[in-house]
Amino acid sequence: MEFVIRNATLPDGRTGIDIAVQDGRIAAVAPRLALAAAREIDAEGDLVAPPFVDAHFHMDATLSYGLPRVNASGTLLEGISLWGELKPQLTQEALVERAMRYCDWAVARGLLAIRTHVDVCDDRLLAVEALLEVKRRVAPYLDMQLVAFPQDGLLRSPTALANLKRAIAMGVDVVGGIPHFERTMADGAESVRVLCEFAAAQGLMVDMHCDESDDPLSRHIETLAFETHRLGLHGRVAGSHLTSMHSMDNYYVSKLLPLIAESGVAAIANPLINITLQGRHDTYPKRRGMTRVPELMAAGVTVAFGHDCVMDPWYGMGSGDMLEVAHMGLHVAQMTSQQAMRACFAAVTENPAKILGLEGYGLEPGCHADLVLLDAADPVEAIRLRAARRLVMRRGRIVAESPRAVARLDLPGRPGSVAFRQRDRGQ
Ligand SMILES: [Zn+2]
Repeated sequence: MEFVIRNATLPDGRTGIDIAVQDGRIAAVAPRLALAAAREIDAEGDLVAPPFVDAHFHMDATLSYGLPRVNASGTLLEGISLWGELKPQLTQEALVERAMRYCDWAVARGLLAIRTHVDVCDDRLLAVEALLEVKRRVAPYLDMQLVAFPQDGLLRSPTALANLKRAIAMGVDVVGGIPHFERTMADGAESVRVLCEFAAAQGLMVDMHCDESDDPLSRHIETLAFETHRLGLHGRVAGSHLTSMHSMDNYYVSKLLPLIAESGVAAIANPLINITLQGRHDTYPKRRGMTRVPELMAAGVTVAFGHDCVMDPWYGMGSGDMLEVAHMGLHVAQMTSQQAMRACFAAVTENPAKILGLEGYGLEPGCHADLVLLDAADPVEAIRLRAARRLVMRRGRIVAESPRAVARLDLPGRPGSVAFRQRDRGQ
C-alpha cells in the first residue's frame, strides 16, 4: 500500500478510522487496518474530509482588486461599472496569471474543485480562452468547470446568445444566465426558456445567476424550476444567489419551495457576497439578503455555499477558504443547531460536489484519493477555527501542507513551556 492515514475522524462522526490509498484511489476505510504502507500519517484523531468544492466563482475577475481603481463605495453597481472599465484592458496573459495564482491559493486551502462563471459578453471571448487554458493546466490537481455567463444579459446584449454558443463550442461546460438583469420580467422568463432549451438540446447542465435582487417580485426561480421540469433537466440545473427569496412573501414561498424540490433544481447561496451586496437600498432595518438556506434544505433541495468573489471589483476580501464561506453562511442563516452546523460543512463539500456532478468524490473505497486532513476534531470545530489544512491530498499525492496553529508560551513562573492550542474538545 502506498499510504495509510491512521486514526482519523470522518465527517459522519466515525472515529478511529484508517484510510488506505493505492494508485490514486481510496483502497480501504476501516478501524485499525492491518496492513503495511510505504508512508503512514497519524491523524491523531483529527478530521479527514473529502476536499472542499466551490460551486460558484468568477475566476475571470479574481485578484483584479484595484484595477483600474478600487471600488470606492463597495457597492454592486460600482462593481459592475468597474468591471466594464476593466474589460477592454484585459489581456489573456494577465487573466491566466491571476487565475493560476488563485488556484494555488485554493489548493493550499484544500479547495480542489471550482465551478467558475466566465463572462461571454466580450466578443473577443478572451476570458473564455484564458480560463480554458487554465483548466487544462490545473487539471492534474484541481477540477475546474466553466459556466458561459452572459453578464450583460442574454437578450439585452446583442451578441450574448451567439457568444454563449461559441463558448460552449470551444469547450465551456455549463449554460449560464442572468434573467433578473434582462430589460423586463417577460424578457427574463424568455431568457430562461431559451437557455434551458439550448442546454436540453446539447445535453448540458445549467447554472444561472437567478434573482440576485432584493425585489420580492423577482420570481425567475419559478420559471427556472418550471422549465427544468418541462424539459426533464432534473438534477442538472442550479439557481445561484436566489436572494429575492429572502424578501418574498411567505405564502408564495410555501408554494415555491416544493416546486424547486420537485424539479431537482439545486440552490447556491453566496453568503460573503450576499451579506455585503444585498440590502444596500435599505435604511434600517437592513435585510440580510441571503436566500432561505435552512428552509430549502428542509424541503429536500441540495444547497451549496459558494465563494463567488475574491479580491475583484465587487469584493475586496476573501482568500479561497471555503471554511470562511461556511462560517459566514452559518451566521447569516442562523444555522446554529448541531445538525445545521454540520449541514454548513456539507454545503462546502458533498453538496457542491453533487451539483458539479463530480465523479469519484467521497471517502468510500474506490473514490479518488482526494482528501483534506484538518486540525480539528469534527466539522463544527473546523468551521469555528477555519482550521489549518494539515495535509491536502489529490489522487494519492500530497499537494499542500500547513502547520497546526500553535502558540508557544514560556512565561515566568510557569513550569516549562506550554503549547497552547486554539482548540478545546472539552475532554
Ligand atoms: Zn456570481
